[in-house]
Amino acid sequence: MSICRTALSLLAHPDDAEFLCAGTLALLHEQGWNIHIATMTPGDCGSATLAPAEISAVRRAEGAQAAALIAATFHCLELGDGNIWHDRDTLRRVVGLLREVRPTLLLTHSPSCYLFDHEATSLLARQGAFWSSVPNYQAPGNALPLATIPHLYYADPMEGKDILGVPVLPTGVVDVTSQMATKRAMLRCHASQREWLHRQHGLDSYVQYMETMAQLRGQLVGCNFGEGFRQHLGHAYPQNNLLASELGACFHPCPTNSTSSPTPGRAGLGPEATDGRGEPPVAFRPQTTPEP
Ligand SMILES: [Zn+2]
Repeated sequence: MSICRTALSLLAHPDDAEFLCAGTLALLHEQGWNIHIATMTPGDCGSATLAPAEISAVRRAEGAQAAALIAATFHCLELGDGNIWHDRDTLRRVVGLLREVRPTLLLTHSPSCYLFDHEATSLLARQGAFWSSVPNYQAPGNALPLATIPHLYYADPMEGKDILGVPVLPTGVVDVTSQMATKRAMLRCHASQREWLHRQHGLDSYVQYMETMAQLRGQLVGCNFGEGFRQHLGHAYPQNNLLASELGACFHPCPTNSTSSPTPGRAGLGPEATDGRGEPPVAFRPQTTPEP
């Protein structure tokens, strides 16, 4: 039986998709899927010089430009950086988006990640996926409830570790080697972030960091570049591995689905995920980067 081939990434900020799942979205696009990229905020805190409304306008345009490279539709739920909360109104907004887009496949943040905006988004995506199919759940817009709960996958946490520093291993890695040029081009669309970091630190670590993440994930399964995922398999959610069946040879199950690694620096994006100077990648040092 054929399925509705619509994928949605629901992540907190503009450029999160490019770091975490743009290669997978590009692969799906190549296979004829309709792609949507949604952010919870327009990235209003992503500048040291522009006012929130100004940087938001810039970053909305950057997000739409990046999405256009894979013929994706860009959405923004217009919350604020640091102000994504798991509350009734936000959940309704998420359900309204899900009913409008009608995804079969939903990608979101890891439940544990360095930034609470990411964790709140993950929880909202999980809960929204469930309630979007419940007819009596009220949400903005006129779209009908979904017929079924979408397949839900969690992307890697930033730096591949949870908030206690424990490496988080994916259960599957998508080989995105063939899509790296597109993934790079999409990330480079977020010029306001790249230039800001370049000016602050004198190096183009923005793209380097993304490549380091993808290389380390690829090493888990013997490919050059990868993106890691874990599927939500709670009661009532779809149990079949849609990413595996859709992506075929590009999807590699990981040898272990343990959440901790015996060699964290090698298997996770742990201490070795540096910019070559023995320090965490510049793009994710919170003291210098409010949020990429
Ligand atoms: Zn983010």
